[in-house]
Amino acid sequence: MEKIISLCKRRGFIFQSSGIYGGISGCWDFGPLGVELKRNMKNDWWYVFVQQRDDVVGLDASIIMHPDVWVASGHVAEFHDMLVDCKECKHRFREDELGGDRCPDCGGELTAPKAFNSMLKTRLGVSDDSAVETYLRPETCQSIFVDFKDVYSSSRMKVPFGIAQIGKSFRNEVNPRNFIFRSREFEQMEIEFFCREEEEDHWFAYWQEAIRQWYLDIGLRDEKLRWYEHPKEILSHYSKRTTDIEYEFPFGWGELQGLANRGAYDLTQHARHSGKDLKFFDQQSQENFVPSVIEPSGGVDRTCLAVLCNGYHEEEVEGDTRVVMRLHPRLAPIKAGVFPLVKKEGLAEIAQDLESGLRKKFNTFYDQAGAIGRRYRRMDEVGTPFCICVDFQTKDDETVTIRDRDSMGQVRLKMDEVADYIGKRCSSERN
Ligand code: ATP
Repeated sequence: MEKIISLCKRRGFIFQSSGIYGGISGCWDFGPLGVELKRNMKNDWWYVFVQQRDDVVGLDASIIMHPDVWVASGHVAEFHDMLVDCKECKHRFREDELGGDRCPDCGGELTAPKAFNSMLKTRLGVSDDSAVETYLRPETCQSIFVDFKDVYSSSRMKVPFGIAQIGKSFRNEVNPRNFIFRSREFEQMEIEFFCREEEEDHWFAYWQEAIRQWYLDIGLRDEKLRWYEHPKEILSHYSKRTTDIEYEFPFGWGELQGLANRGAYDLTQHARHSGKDLKFFDQQSQENFVPSVIEPSGGVDRTCLAVLCNGYHEEEVEGDTRVVMRLHPRLAPIKAGVFPLVKKEGLAEIAQDLESGLRKKFNTFYDQAGAIGRRYRRMDEVGTPFCICVDFQTKDDETVTIRDRDSMGQVRLKMDEVADYIGKRCSSERN
């Protein structure tokens, strides 16, 4: 894990937030390469689960909502961790993460558990007395429930259908840890899929398969994924059934995405608290009913971490250690490195021309400094799937070499075929 964290910082994937002030716990900044990786991932998810489907539409709702939302959703009453403090060293722990009844740090005696709400409070309004106290959302889904009627009537969707959203969520986690795995500010990608009660099991099984397939499609290895079914006793207050897809991180198995059957809980709660009718009217059968909800709810940051851990490899090449980040081409921050073999004899100009043409379509990187082997290695380390080299033969026949990051094998292509070659391999389109 240390090696991955250090590479992330050194190469501009992820930095500690507010680093020059000593950092702030549970907050992270995605640097120039990290932001590209994250965007590519979100775009791919959106492409697959929203744009390619006629039964899912998108939403981008406000992070701050009416405070009553969180009363209706059950978060004010239920969204808490049970905490214990060590009477000796004063360290604080989540009760459910303790192995025994003594402090894991110093062996001291622990206090009785007390509830701590994990929502981050904020105040909205300019003057102290009129300001409204509310929260930064701890999950993106509540706005989907609250906007349910506006969305389905404006888009003329009919049950079964889904509403998807990607956005920031905030939780005052007691122990943010494992790099970006558990943060206080993070992004979620969620779908609330509305269906009839009698179809809950069908859609649950459907989404279970769809989620797993997406993780495989972005390159996660099958043997590193598993399902964890929540026992009935620990189900969240809203859930009839929950199963998590977990990834085997270097620090152990961790949840990437939860899949929950929320039944009609949320729409019923919001209808009751707001006094508004949130039923769906089925024109065909002339029925009015509150649909059930199947919810795949994933973390963007956790998936980024899984992708980075999954991609990181060290291998021996000609007596040297090659660090290679085997990112799926559609997620890679830089799609192609373009290099002249040498700067002189007009090769740099040809390479620059080629690169500026490719840049119109993909994120590319031009490099003419140092030995070609070193330039390849720098691209390997950040997961660039293709490196194009302009050499002396280019001047004769307008061909270049394309080196594949994983096999290090090279093929020769006409310069005007390069964009198509890269485009096909980086596209989100599935076969
Ligand atoms: P955990 O048990 O790890 O605290 P959770 O079950 O509370 O997670 P959910 O409420 O199901 O998480 O949230 C859906 C997804 O949002 C999770 O699968 C995870 O990917 C992401 N997520 C939740 N909390 C965090 C966090 N603190 N930091 C980063 N991602 C998070």
